[in-house]
Amino acid sequence: MPYPFDLPALGYAHDALEPHIDTRTMEIHHGKHHAGYTSKLNGALEAHPGLHGKSAEDLVRDLSALPEAIRGAVRNNGGGYLNHALFWDVLTPGGASAPSGALAGAIDTACGSFAEFKARFQATAGGQFGSGWGWLCTDGDGALSVIATANQDSPYMQGLTPILGVDVWEHAYYLHYQNRRPDYLEAIWSVVNWDVVARRYAAAVSA
Ligand code: MN
Repeated sequence: MPYPFDLPALGYAHDALEPHIDTRTMEIHHGKHHAGYTSKLNGALEAHPGLHGKSAEDLVRDLSALPEAIRGAVRNNGGGYLNHALFWDVLTPGGASAPSGALAGAIDTACGSFAEFKARFQATAGGQFGSGWGWLCTDGDGALSVIATANQDSPYMQGLTPILGVDVWEHAYYLHYQNRRPDYLEAIWSVVNWDVVARRYAAAVSA
């Protein structure tokens, strides 16, 4: 969906991820932070009608094609818009607590086991210095990788498709976990919906 971008509605209540992610964090994170990235992305694009037909994914995939005056704004706010939309989607409560099928096999191939994947993900996301994200990504052939990005950079910017993302900016966890990012990254597995991650993987591989 192109410009003007709308703040995606949460598919669940603000308190649905308690006690792992607290209600107040969800209200501020979705209603203020994600809303801010969305409106700033629209603001950057407003005076560039030639870009109004592009999806957010296409905008951040090729930042070098954008006018220099808005490249930084689209990098930060287009990334922020996309990253948070994925985050809310994969955190939908009540889904599968572990991967199955083709995704489970690909995780075993990449990491050895689901337990080793989780340890690698937590180490990678936990080790991101300052603000950023932890990701499980796929390339066009279905191979998986675990990476971290700084700020609001998206895996699309390096040619990868994100299928799971976890926000490690302090605004994502500080009210409940304060400085304890590792505790947040341990708790997040209780609310990751692997049905959604598997659907995103299948869509990326068949694209
Ligand atoms: Mn965030």
